[in-house]
Amino acid sequence: MEGIVKPWHGIQREEIRWNPEVDEELCIGCGMCVTGCGRMVYRFDFEKKKPVVAAPLNCMVACVTCANTCPQHAISFPSLSYVHGLMKAHKLLQKAREELNASRERYQK
Ligand code: SF4
Ligand code: SF4
Repeated sequence: MEGIVKPWHGIQREEIRWNPEVDEELCIGCGMCVTGCGRMVYRFDFEKKKPVVAAPLNCMVACVTCANTCPQHAISFPSLSYVHGLMKAHKLLQKAREELNASRERYQK
């Protein structure tokens, strides 16, 4: 699944600190995070009955779906302000506007 890793808006994924962390004390091993992630970030330790963050760089930057669906609130991420700081530092809003205008036909409602 390493193939999913790719730059995020031009920023090398390795430079971005964004992946889930699981609090094993809180986790009940339901597997919702493992089966619910479309990017195969998790594997599952069937002996310990705990998820393993096996491919952290596959995690979609700013996605928090697995944390939102964890019934135990056992999954955490860095603050979203970290992502917003990255966006500012790399002028991503400006780039988004340019991309939008350059692909007007594609995104036109
Ligand atoms: S969804 Fe939460 S409780 Fe369930 S396996 Fe994942 S971390 Fe554990
Ligand atoms: S945040 Fe999204 S992409 Fe990342 S591990 Fe959770 S569900 Fe998968």
